[in-house]
Amino acid sequence: MKYVPKGGPDGGDGGDGGSVVFEADEGLNTLLDFRGRTLFSAKDGEPGGQRHCHGKSGADLVLRVPPGTLVIDDDTGDTLADIAPGDRVTLLRGGRGGLGNDHFKTSINQAPRRAEPGEPGEAKRLRLELKLIADVGLVGLPNAGKSTLLSAWTRAEAKVGAYPFTTLSPQLGIAELDPARRIVISDIPGLIAGASEGVGLGHEFLRHIERTRVILHLVDAIPSDGADPAENYRVIRHELFAYSPELAAKPEIVALNKVDLLTDEDRERIMTDFRHAIAPDGVTGIIALSGATGIGQRETMEALWTALGDQAKPTPAWKSMRDED
Ligand code: GDP
Ligand code: MG
Repeated sequence: MKYVPKGGPDGGDGGDGGSVVFEADEGLNTLLDFRGRTLFSAKDGEPGGQRHCHGKSGADLVLRVPPGTLVIDDDTGDTLADIAPGDRVTLLRGGRGGLGNDHFKTSINQAPRRAEPGEPGEAKRLRLELKLIADVGLVGLPNAGKSTLLSAWTRAEAKVGAYPFTTLSPQLGIAELDPARRIVISDIPGLIAGASEGVGLGHEFLRHIERTRVILHLVDAIPSDGADPAENYRVIRHELFAYSPELAAKPEIVALNKVDLLTDEDRERIMTDFRHAIAPDGVTGIIALSGATGIGQRETMEALWTALGDQAKPTPAWKSMRDED
């Protein structure tokens, strides 16, 4: 150790605390990583030391979230950030490190007794909410065949099951008409009567369609419980309206699904009945679809693509519902 004449003040500054940073990660679709963990903090800065040694700054805490995540101040309800693809947002700044006595040394005061403590970093109670950014929101009662269609269209490993509520988090899929025309679709599971008021899990998922531009509504052509497809269609329409009229006003493509289970004759009859029941003026635009076999899939994708390109013009199907309500 080198001798320091008279051993002057040599206390270095403390390090700054790390900040809390939110980073968009396009590989993520859910906020499940955050479930159950409630306290997150960046690292403290390290103390300064003797011999002018400055403390190291604390490492930032980088939280990876899916694009579409809203970061909300839980106390005020303010939205602090709306994480878009590619974003990296510093939300809570780390505290400033303290100043060591070395910092206050001047030509006239070579032996300052002064040092200043650092300041604490920001702390906030934050709430994360995910609003998926998809072009199309896929709706329909449980068992309408949403997951089956989504997995047919995409490599997304949608869970398919013969019972309701097999999909517990919204799945994103991509329908590719050709490499230049890709449509991002989000499965909105769990919609049932009363979902808009919190019955079942549907409310959890309804907010995910707020940002989609077009709704694809699947209706089981022959529900196993013998229900009327038109009645089932109205149940979902009602929930969409009740949740948000703005949401319900989005262009909607309606597809009668599972038509592979029907003879040509039955298919014709059921399609006609359904069309008349939901659109009394006899408009067409309802697609006969089978997510399992491929019938009508191309037609559905093309209809979605067209609707996405012409958002201003709602389809007759939703118009007739609006007139009804
Ligand atoms: P979701 O609840 O809307 O996601 O419905 P699923 O995709 O999980 O499908 C519910 C059930 O219907 C499963 O047993 C599927 O195999 C079946 N299913 C789905 N689509 C079709 C279809 O196009 N044709 C037939 N025959 N069955 C289907
Ligand atoms: Mg499903």
